[in-house]
Amino acid sequence: MTGSERLIVASNRLPVILSRSPEGGWTFNRGSGGLITALEPVLREREGTWIGWPGVGGDELEEVESLLDRESGRLGYRVRGVGLTPREEEDFYLGFSNQVVWPLFHDFQTQCNFDPSFWQAYRDVNRRFAKVIGENSAPGDFIWVQDYHLMSVAEELVQADSPRRTGFFLHIPFPPLDLFVKLPWRFTLLRSLLHYDLIGFQTGRDRRNFIECVRTLAPNVQVEGEGRVVEVIVGKRRVKVGAFPISIDFDEFAQSAASNPVSERVARLWSEFPGRQIILGVDRLDYSKGIPHKLQGFRLALQRYPALQERVSLVQLVVPSREDIPEYYDIRREIERLVGQISGEFTRPGWVPIHYQYGSWDRPELLAHYRAAAVNLVTSLKDGMNLVAKEFSAASLEGSGVLILSEYAGATAQLQEDAILVNPYDVEEVADAIHRACTMEEEERKERMGRIREKIRREDIFWWVDTFLKAARGEDLGESSTLEIYQPPAPPGFFDSVATES
Ligand code: UDP
Repeated sequence: MTGSERLIVASNRLPVILSRSPEGGWTFNRGSGGLITALEPVLREREGTWIGWPGVGGDELEEVESLLDRESGRLGYRVRGVGLTPREEEDFYLGFSNQVVWPLFHDFQTQCNFDPSFWQAYRDVNRRFAKVIGENSAPGDFIWVQDYHLMSVAEELVQADSPRRTGFFLHIPFPPLDLFVKLPWRFTLLRSLLHYDLIGFQTGRDRRNFIECVRTLAPNVQVEGEGRVVEVIVGKRRVKVGAFPISIDFDEFAQSAASNPVSERVARLWSEFPGRQIILGVDRLDYSKGIPHKLQGFRLALQRYPALQERVSLVQLVVPSREDIPEYYDIRREIERLVGQISGEFTRPGWVPIHYQYGSWDRPELLAHYRAAAVNLVTSLKDGMNLVAKEFSAASLEGSGVLILSEYAGATAQLQEDAILVNPYDVEEVADAIHRACTMEEEERKERMGRIREKIRREDIFWWVDTFLKAARGEDLGESSTLEIYQPPAPPGFFDSVATES
């Protein structure tokens, strides 16, 4: 592909979602987020098309097609819909995507529901995506498929006799071999992935896991090259495999955080927490986020370091998600039980240890919390990237925020030197990290946050899009700074006694 070939993006959801208004008409909801912000200019420049589910069933698709056409004119690129029936929403989206791939790829094998009808629906929906992509593209176009809902699209394109140049980016982690082999459809899924011309992962670790699966499960595999992109050779196919850590629109976050409405809310927040440090948690409701682990770490910090009592408060936002899946309901109950216990144990007149909210904040409110907080506490048990950590850092305008980051977040590969890293399963380590962050000297905070911000600014979401598309064109990507795989370092001299024993 050249820099001007047409680009087709496919993702589970379109950036515009339709819903029925009470009067029976349709209303548009615009999606937001870094991916949309970054891809829209490229799509406009390249006569692009975005293909995805617009929130409607297959039988309603015809009815909304003219609306999508009109929306395409306004957006400056085309949007085309793939309809899903309510049954497919159940089996493809809530089923295979979110009760098989999501838990397995986040190392929660015991949460998987390997129902064969989920797999069937996944194949059917991927085939329908491929059909719509085939109808709306030409052989010279480049098709960029996003995320775990659509891993079989490239293979389906070949089977539909519409071969295209294709790239795939996995926004979530890729599991280690021993977990991947639990999947009943492991060979088929791997074969599907190998139909892409470029596969992008968030980190060097995800890429290593994938390559190990391919080496072990597919015959006669060779790997060539080094750096951000390597080539996996399987028979006659050469598949490029790279690591491209996704990011945020750093400048936009930093500028919006400096705006007057946000600054006013920051001042309000500081006055609501007089002389106290805010420790901030912002997580979607998900077992992968380790929210109970965070709460237990916070409780131990208050017990171990009583001086923190009345000096710090944890503000924890939990954003509702996938409430139709029973495990999500259970995790919410567990979180709320712990919040209740900790509040009961520590609350005093004039001080509440945890400000818990189940809901969402508008953007100024989110930015104000990021900017006002002294500490962002991220305890994911596994996370593709964790954009909250990057958003907090971008909005930390005073430059003195401290990031406590789980070893198991994708962001750790880039930020390991300057964040305080924790193993969220180690409640004592989390408690000590909270104490360390809350008592860190201003100078050290500023130095660490300065370096974190610089890294995120340099490798922002536009860099991510550009680097992936350059890799698809086979261009040189220069130095690779962020491929390091984090491994916990043993304390100095820890194994000396083993080495010296006879
Ligand atoms: N977020 C949101 N509404 C809120 C709070 C947060 O939309 O009330 C956003 C936040 O800005 C971030 C995203 O949710 O972009 C969470 O992304 P992350 O990578 O941390 O986790 P994910 O939810 O994708 O697993």
